[in-house]
Amino acid sequence: MAIAKVEPLTTARALRGPFDYRLPERMEGVGVGTVLRVPFGRRRVLGVVVEIAERSELPPERLAEPLEALEAGVPAELVRLGLWTAREYCSTPSRGLQLVLPPGTGSGGRRVGPRLERRVALTGAGRDALAGGARLGSRQRAVLEALAEANGGGDLPARQLAVASGSDSATLRRLESRGLVELRQERALRRPRVAAVGDAPGAIRFTAEQEDAAATIVGAIGRGEERELLVHGVTGSGKTEVYLRGAEAALARDRGAIVLVPEIALTPQTLARFRERFGDVVALLHSALREGERYDEWERLRSGAARLCVGPRSAVFAPVSELGLIVIDEEHDPSYKQEGDPRYDARHVARRRAAEAGAVLIAGSATPRPESWLELPRLELSRRVDGRELPEVEVLDMRGDDRRGGPLHPATRKALEALRAEGGKGILLLNRRGWAPHLSCRSCGHTWGCPRCDVSLVVHRSTERLTCHHCGHAEPVPDSCPECGSVTLARHGAGTERLESLLSGLLDPLPVFRLDSDSAGRGGGHPEILARFQDAEAGVLLGTQMVAKGHDFSDVVLSVVLDADAALRFPDFRAEERAFALIAQLAGRSGRGEAGGRVLVQTLAPDAPAIEAAARHDAPGFLAGELERRRALRYPPFAHLVRVELAAGEAADADRVAGGLRSVLEGALPEGSELLGPAPRVRLRGRHRRQLLLKTGDRGATVAAVRDAVEAAARGRALRGAALSVDVDPQ
Ligand SMILES: [Zn+2]
Ligand SMILES: [Zn+2]
Repeated sequence: MAIAKVEPLTTARALRGPFDYRLPERMEGVGVGTVLRVPFGRRRVLGVVVEIAERSELPPERLAEPLEALEAGVPAELVRLGLWTAREYCSTPSRGLQLVLPPGTGSGGRRVGPRLERRVALTGAGRDALAGGARLGSRQRAVLEALAEANGGGDLPARQLAVASGSDSATLRRLESRGLVELRQERALRRPRVAAVGDAPGAIRFTAEQEDAAATIVGAIGRGEERELLVHGVTGSGKTEVYLRGAEAALARDRGAIVLVPEIALTPQTLARFRERFGDVVALLHSALREGERYDEWERLRSGAARLCVGPRSAVFAPVSELGLIVIDEEHDPSYKQEGDPRYDARHVARRRAAEAGAVLIAGSATPRPESWLELPRLELSRRVDGRELPEVEVLDMRGDDRRGGPLHPATRKALEALRAEGGKGILLLNRRGWAPHLSCRSCGHTWGCPRCDVSLVVHRSTERLTCHHCGHAEPVPDSCPECGSVTLARHGAGTERLESLLSGLLDPLPVFRLDSDSAGRGGGHPEILARFQDAEAGVLLGTQMVAKGHDFSDVVLSVVLDADAALRFPDFRAEERAFALIAQLAGRSGRGEAGGRVLVQTLAPDAPAIEAAARHDAPGFLAGELERRRALRYPPFAHLVRVELAAGEAADADRVAGGLRSVLEGALPEGSELLGPAPRVRLRGRHRRQLLLKTGDRGATVAAVRDAVEAAARGRALRGAALSVDVDPQ
């Protein structure tokens, strides 16, 4: 008797699967990865088969049979990967499996499936009738003519035919009954439409460094080696061309490839390059596609019709079989980390997947992470393909007391005025949305904070509201102070909204394009804003960190980072790494055209190592210092971190649960681990938060100890009133 071990797709943490079901003979085709609908207590739920066994520990009469098997299943290797991810990130099997399911199969919600379409095909008799002058009505003739002219052999979707010939279904049925056409239902593929943003490269001639890097990668793929490589290439050094060579080598050996990019907004550019080279075998997967498109792209990969997948972090779970290559482009980007449970890091999952598949893994960046720098063999692309030098970076000290210039340094102002006079394009980075980040009363000093979070409210002028950037709380901008009645209120600092207005005045008549999560809503999405900037003769793109991410604009002559040390002020061991990457990335986007380029960095900390190194374009120098610091402080990559966060409506509950968990963990952690906290964190959404931080050399044992503690707490009543989340390798 065959037993299916089924992991139910539920959200309950305390539930321990898998559960055994007896497979009846009619379900012969069921295997690992099949999605079943099963009776579960008094409910019916979906579950994934994780194993097929000969026998069960339970007597046969106590085993239920599945109700049905869904058509779409998951490849067995992805079932293993989903379960591994769940374990590795202290999540549940169900949540791990959700990552690999066919789109639209989730635990609830409606199911998507293939779309069928009516097609009309010209028969031999139809062709003869058209040629031989048989008696045909004018509509009938129009139909046959439209079909005969259709490329691809006299076959069209009925809908398209109706437009082309003015036919209706009665005409089609008459033609069918005379044997002149054939009507059939066929599967129609829903394909995502994407417009490319960024400049396509001109004629490609490889530099010597590119040739060397490509040869190493192609060689490894050719020998079927399992290898990890870091492509360290300055911006403009032609990394994508090297990736394309690698993909070509994989496809030539009949192996598949996955190309990861940090953001959905960057997929059009990358997709266009790979489609241009490889055509239809390239598929796109991301969460912003329509459900039907996602389903069909997933199916194209699953069936092998497509062999290469481009997408953001979730595409690391794409159903590509015989995987030969995984590329992680811009590997330094924090968005490879998932925010919700399971809080997986696509870079870590990619390494596991490549190792399992015997594939080559390439991580690429101009500003690699310290981890990758230390652990991966490097391929260096130190020169731009156009032979130009990287632009000079000027660090502008903002510590002076003269603030009449507002948020712009006099040198920045001058450079912008020159841009207006001479034309050309500039990019300004200010990592802060809204008009002003603080509002206060000039008379009594009262400040406006979010009632639910311990953060200040941000002034937004377009909506005339004070808004919380954490929870979305919003209230009208007040006319007077509620404490003292004074009407003199001060708006401190500048966000992108205020800077946009300032720049519009300064640069008029040049256009200013604002790119942040507020602006995306009003003028089309991000791709539209970027496309308008690209098409403009001259102008300035202003925005949050999105403007520093991977877009290729060859004609940018000025890049400015305002408040470069904002990133450094975060209390996080990655602050230096972030600040360095942000500045170096934006600096690299300048001066790639004929006109050369200039980079200005405004800062209150001109001597900070991250800023000095970025100004020298010195990634190796920065990374050497940073690794030294991390080694001394025992931070990754010299230790692993696990963060456990508790949140509760009452501060006392948060303290109680955090304290309880700490005492459980104290005895359970492997030797040499450190347990820090509980430490209070900023209150958000009305929830009091506490954090436990674990530093350890033994990641596996620590994750297991945390998992046991968390599951025990979930089963018992210790968690009452509190929510708990675990973040392994927090970013
Ligand atoms: Zn006041
Ligand atoms: Zn809030």
